[in-house]
Amino acid sequence: MGAKVKNIDRKGSSLEERIYLIEIFKGMATTFGHFFRNLLDNRRLYVRHYPEVQPEIPVRWRGRHRLTSHADGTVKCVACFMCQTNCPANCIMIEAGERYDGKTEKMPVKFNIDLLECIYCGYCVEACPVDAIRMDTGIFSVIDNNRESFVVGLEELLKTPGAFSEEEYKKGGA
Ligand code: SF4
Ligand code: SF4
Repeated sequence: MGAKVKNIDRKGSSLEERIYLIEIFKGMATTFGHFFRNLLDNRRLYVRHYPEVQPEIPVRWRGRHRLTSHADGTVKCVACFMCQTNCPANCIMIEAGERYDGKTEKMPVKFNIDLLECIYCGYCVEACPVDAIRMDTGIFSVIDNNRESFVVGLEELLKTPGAFSEEEYKKGGA
């Protein structure tokens, strides 16, 4: 059985169509129409007026890290180095020290994360056996004017609160 062939006439062969001028003016009319309409009234624009209007951060969003604590305020981290070992960007630097509160044998005495190296993959969170590191701070804007400030240390990581309640966090499956 032979294939059915359908011939389509080529469009745009007249001189008026080939010089494109009318089509260009039509396109520009549309562009300027939108431009002036939005200039006079921008309420219909899909633009978030940041920073006045902050974005809603979903629970599973991977923001800047924090270290979690026990109910009595002591650090949960047991300095097992799992996060540091699994970090593909090699940007976690932990120094372990002896722990004397009877909870575990070790705890971090230094815990630095270089945010300029971090790729926010979340592997550190996945690797942690005791849920001591999370990326649920909702902090998405990390800005400063010198490289040293992008290295967050133990104290800063411990004092940063989570952006969600424990229930929301668990529901989010993070
Ligand atoms: S999010 Fe990824 S790159 Fe950043 S510290 Fe954790 S494991 Fe390393
Ligand atoms: S944050 Fe978790 S994975 Fe990293 S050293 Fe502490 S306990 Fe281990």
